[in-house]
Amino acid sequence: MAESQMTTEERLVSPEFNKEDVIEYSLRPRRLSEFIGHAKIKESLSVFIQAAKMRGEALDHVLLYGPPGLGKTTLAYIVANEMDVPIRSTSGPAIERPGDLAAILTNIEPDSVLFIDEIHRLNRAVEEILYPAMEDYQLDLIIGKGPSARTLKLDLPRFTLVGATTRTGLITSPLRTRFGIVHNFDFYNVDHLKTIVIRSAAIMGIGITDEGAYEIAGRSRGTPRIANRVLRRVRDFAEVKADGIIDKNVAVDGLSMLEIDENGLDEADRRLLRIIIEKFDGGPVGIETIAAAIGEERDTIEDAQEPYLIQIGFLNRTPRGRVATRLAYEHLGRSFMAKNQTGLF
Ligand code: ADP
Repeated sequence: MAESQMTTEERLVSPEFNKEDVIEYSLRPRRLSEFIGHAKIKESLSVFIQAAKMRGEALDHVLLYGPPGLGKTTLAYIVANEMDVPIRSTSGPAIERPGDLAAILTNIEPDSVLFIDEIHRLNRAVEEILYPAMEDYQLDLIIGKGPSARTLKLDLPRFTLVGATTRTGLITSPLRTRFGIVHNFDFYNVDHLKTIVIRSAAIMGIGITDEGAYEIAGRSRGTPRIANRVLRRVRDFAEVKADGIIDKNVAVDGLSMLEIDENGLDEADRRLLRIIIEKFDGGPVGIETIAAAIGEERDTIEDAQEPYLIQIGFLNRTPRGRVATRLAYEHLGRSFMAKNQTGLF
């Protein structure tokens, strides 16, 4: 069978932002109280925010990590809203030189939030000038080169850095230790996702039943961005094929048409598992080899596919490589035991 080659951007269940997600801006919760799930993160942030406000200080720097689409950017904006301060948003790859960061830091309003997405992608030279900025609100700029080089110290306004990264292991430890508040985002459970689907449907004026929302939530890989995207697609389906209301049957039919199975896997996921099982005897197989075999970037697999497959127990990450589990075999209708008995595994 010919394997379909889908790019991440086309994948409906990719957690990464794509151009059709611009509507997200209107769906984004603006206050902590509107942010669904993650009770512990909300509680602790709320305490830190209140304390900082009472002392009239900027909030301590915050590091948020977890797979894409789980609400890190949303929370950065909420922090600024709750602190009642402006926010400036950028990303690791966008800050190419130390001068770029210096320009941002010297121009932000006092007590602002500076949000740096993909903070693990800052280059070393930029990262090094971030350390004294975070610690002492000071900028150490080196002017000139060679023996005549001088250091220029500049005082900066106080600010709160909110950094987001998909994987904590990618952050250097000197950077990590400069964050006073660190939170890990896990996937959402189905009930929380269902609440998010119902909330988004209300904002977009989509009619949906409880069961319809539950069905969408259950197949959205614990990820609000995917839930919102799937909701929009199923709405189209409901408008064309049903009377516009998303009930359980409409959701199930719509999701089947979109080839998203009951576990939230799409063809790209099934293909990844199939390749590990068929070409590499179920693994262990190195991530680079998998990436080459399916023609996908290693980073995309590690950020957008693997975390969820590991979470639902379909894939294991071992020191020798990735291994497809019994559940993955069963999901694809393969016999795991028979394979063991033949000594192939
Ligand atoms: P990340 O920065 O982690 O990639 P985002 O903050 O951009 O994720 O979240 C993606 C979208 O998912 C948001 O625009 C928002 O609509 C929705 N979302 C994320 N977290 C929540 C939440 N806890 N409650 C409601 N909606 C959420």
